[in-house]
Amino acid sequence: MAYRLNSKKIEQDTLHWLDERGIKLEEIAELVMYLQKDYVPNLTMEECMISVERVLKKREVQNAVLTGIQLDILAEKNQLIPSLQEMIVHDEGLYGVDEILALSIVNVYGSIGLTNFGYIDKVKPGVLKKLNDKNDKDTHTFLDDIIGAIAAAASSRIAHDATD
Ligand code: MG
Repeated sequence: MAYRLNSKKIEQDTLHWLDERGIKLEEIAELVMYLQKDYVPNLTMEECMISVERVLKKREVQNAVLTGIQLDILAEKNQLIPSLQEMIVHDEGLYGVDEILALSIVNVYGSIGLTNFGYIDKVKPGVLKKLNDKNDKDTHTFLDDIIGAIAAAASSRIAHDATD
């Protein structure tokens, strides 16, 4: 029988695993507000939330979220190829594949997203600061970039709408 992809299941899994990894969509919406409040007057949290939800409906985004979370989990379980294991668990600066994967999210909404992604990765506001805490036992090497990228993409959507 031909293989049939269950799109609904992929979407549900994406939301489930973000929650499982301690991420609330409201926290991503707060990052969007942080990025856009100076540019879009009267922007509401509800609009930020809607934009985050829209971004999460894209398959490219779901694919990146699930792949990144899977690698973080395997690293926590010490199940990766040894050299990869070491780089991911220590969030090694020259590894860089975490950022590259996150760019597949940012790219969905064009070049404004890239600027936002670079900025938020540098400042690390809100939930990104929590994810970057190297003292906790969890591995978020991929998840921090993914969350920043979702926020950047959701911000780009709002910026595009505001200029229309
Ligand atoms: Mg990272």
